[in-house]
Amino acid sequence: MNKSEQLFTQAQKIIPGGVNSPVRAFNGVGGNPCFIKRAEGVYIYDADDKAYIDYVGSWGPMILGHNHPAILQAVMNTAQNGLSFGAPTELEITMAEKVRELVPSMESLRMVSSGTEATMSAIRLARGYTGRDKILKFEGCYHGHADSLLVKAGSGALTMGVPNSPGIPADFAKHTLTVSYNNLDEVKEIFAKYAEEIACIIVEPVAGNMNCIPPVAGFLEGLREVCNQYGSVLIFDEVMTGFRVALGGAQAHYNIKPDLTTLGKVIGGGMPVGAFGGKQEIMDYIAPVGPVYQAGTLSGNPIAMAAGLAALNELSQGDKHEQLSAATEKLAMGFKAAAERNGVSLSINYVGAMFGFFFTDEEQPISSYQQATECDGEKFKQFFHLMLDEGVYLAPSAFEASFLSTAHTDEIIEKTLAAADKCFAQL
Ligand code: PMP
Repeated sequence: MNKSEQLFTQAQKIIPGGVNSPVRAFNGVGGNPCFIKRAEGVYIYDADDKAYIDYVGSWGPMILGHNHPAILQAVMNTAQNGLSFGAPTELEITMAEKVRELVPSMESLRMVSSGTEATMSAIRLARGYTGRDKILKFEGCYHGHADSLLVKAGSGALTMGVPNSPGIPADFAKHTLTVSYNNLDEVKEIFAKYAEEIACIIVEPVAGNMNCIPPVAGFLEGLREVCNQYGSVLIFDEVMTGFRVALGGAQAHYNIKPDLTTLGKVIGGGMPVGAFGGKQEIMDYIAPVGPVYQAGTLSGNPIAMAAGLAALNELSQGDKHEQLSAATEKLAMGFKAAAERNGVSLSINYVGAMFGFFFTDEEQPISSYQQATECDGEKFKQFFHLMLDEGVYLAPSAFEASFLSTAHTDEIIEKTLAAADKCFAQL
């Protein structure tokens, strides 16, 4: 038994499933999860000191690679002045100004401590602002685990929401309408039916929680138009895409202005941070200016602000996103070529510094949850473990995107592709 196996056995006796967030248990791929001891640059090291090239990056925050010196320094400097005050600090203003500079649609914004809090607060705000109860989300999009959002479609795509998890009252979930991602006709149909009852649409502008599924041409534009037509709030959940798909997020990449945006991951540089913000007129509904309550003891925590600010400052220097996109494209094309060489049918999606691959014969790009679920999950599991043995840590689920960082150099990509070639040959 190696150290990770020993730790997993021990952890399961005290922590549900041995983990503090389910996907870490490798329930999507089977086997024993790697317990991580440390990380540096592009590598993470498990409890037995085995090194892996990391394509998870703490699920997104590590866009500059692990243990980035500027972030580490900012954390250490700030920590010397105290860890938390529960009172406002100048750092929070600097952080808000930096975010607004990079994502100008966020005219006013508030910090929270996770992506879940960001989306939960944005939904409450949209409801409070419009005075409407229903929300519209897309099947296969994940927006954290708040009750309203942990809902997917029932049997038909246009049905009322049914809870995804026990513990969510059906009476509550019924306010969440769910339609298919990339299907504007379904959106229009449901708006025609519920018209002025729908407070908001919340969408991942590039879906990263059903593998990686970019929006088809016209989809995001169509959502913008529908929201304008019905007076609903358009929320881009950029927890994953923010500062990753482009420096200004997916809204910059696709040139669509949402009313509200939610952020997480990169914005904390590895510390627990999220944010929500948008049009001033809507944000003015938030307490203490307005009536919609939202709060947090550790919101705007100085260490988290320092880490996030250092990450954003670093990321906005030079042409990091050109580099990230080029590296992602090289990896994606290389995967495709390696699969073809070995007679494996593979479909790849990528945008900016996120990518996903599907084991399927489908020739058109995968663009829906339905298609994503029809791909060969068993082959994915097999490939994941073969790559893990080769020292490459991909997202441990066929329904998660993988991420690159600025530490993924040409040399690292080539090393990854050599491993992929070997693994495709064994499928
Ligand atoms: N929204 C999106 C798009 C996400 O990908 C996630 C987390 N993966 C969340 C919200 C929730 O963020 P957190 O896990 O920080 O609560």
